[in-house]
Amino acid sequence: MNSGMATITARATDLLDRIRTLESRYGRAPGSVTLVGISKTHPVEYIREAFGAGVRNIGESYLQEALPKLDALRSLPICWHFVGRIQANKTAAIAAGFDWVHSIDRIRVARRLNDQRPEGRAALECCIEVNLSEESGKGGVDPHEVDELADAVAGLPRLRLRGLMAIPAAADGLDAQRVPFARLAGCLERLRSRHPQMDTLSIGMSADMEAAIAEGATMVRIGTALFGPRRS
Ligand SMILES: *Cc1c(COP(=O)(O)O)cnc(C)c1O
Repeated sequence: MNSGMATITARATDLLDRIRTLESRYGRAPGSVTLVGISKTHPVEYIREAFGAGVRNIGESYLQEALPKLDALRSLPICWHFVGRIQANKTAAIAAGFDWVHSIDRIRVARRLNDQRPEGRAALECCIEVNLSEESGKGGVDPHEVDELADAVAGLPRLRLRGLMAIPAAADGLDAQRVPFARLAGCLERLRSRHPQMDTLSIGMSADMEAAIAEGATMVRIGTALFGPRRS
């Protein structure tokens, strides 16, 4: 266990260094890219270790798995991100437990999160997930419907519309990986004329982090490269 934990510390340090290097390579402001460690399938000890190494933002994809982890780590000032598919009947626990939701893809879910955000908590920080591959069955709103959804989210007082998220189909090589990210960045730029508070581009995972930073990522969601291979 100890050697595994040392590995997470080393990986976190390397990742944070690499993000700073890529910011500078692509002309991004220093500190403009936040590392969100995606801890699905991994135990709370791993999250504690990453937190100790400077990873303050942690993301989870499965609510059932996430809730006991949030509970166990309540004493740490972790900023919690929900990045998975949202079932409409599970929104209350998401609204109560998380600081950010990256995966809003329909108005009904946005309304429920708004209504269920507890009094006394700050507004829930929200990104809209866009389906760039336009494959049905994948998460995210169709790009043609993102304006309507953005307007709806922006009108909900307990949500704060922050930006866009996407998970493009896997592609090989930096140039190919940049194409869908550039499209999403263009979509954000267009929306910002109506919603200037949108400052977040949640793109980039372990295999395409460089392409995402090159295209303007402000949050990269890194699982494997931080915590190692998933356990299930
Ligand atoms: C699992 C997951 C990640 C992390 O993926 P890696 O390839 O392991 O870095 C990022 N975003 C979402 C939405 C995920 O579900």
